[in-house]
Amino acid sequence: MSDLRELYQELIVDHGRHPRHFKKLPNANCVQEGYNPLCGDRLTLYLSIENDRVIDVSFEGAGCAVSIASASLMTEALKNKTLSEVQLLFDAFHTLVTTGTDASQETLLGKLSVLAGVREFPMRVKCATLAWHTAIAAIRHDTHPVSTE
Ligand code: ZN
Repeated sequence: MSDLRELYQELIVDHGRHPRHFKKLPNANCVQEGYNPLCGDRLTLYLSIENDRVIDVSFEGAGCAVSIASASLMTEALKNKTLSEVQLLFDAFHTLVTTGTDASQETLLGKLSVLAGVREFPMRVKCATLAWHTAIAAIRHDTHPVSTE
């Protein structure tokens, strides 16, 4: 178990240091800003959505390793998902980092499961969920910037 924990930590550190899809998306038709005042994490999420499917996704921002790693892992997970699949993933991820998830959700979550450990650190839950709240607001075309407070 401790080996697995180390592997998870490595993945978070790796994504925190070298975030994937960290750029502006020129053809985005959905742009949303998110802010976590508790930690100071800020990000802008870019989505290109066609026929209720995420064609492309990227983000830019600055924040702690957990917020950046979570956003990076999320962009990998959201690509080519339908909007209803995005909502399902959000629900599963939210459960994972708050109350804890059962084994049946692990296949759905895949690599996102590496963030399960933040559950033990309530301050970090908002860092991990910021990108996700931002994505859901973007999909709903909520024009207000997202704040976790
Ligand atoms: Zn943070």
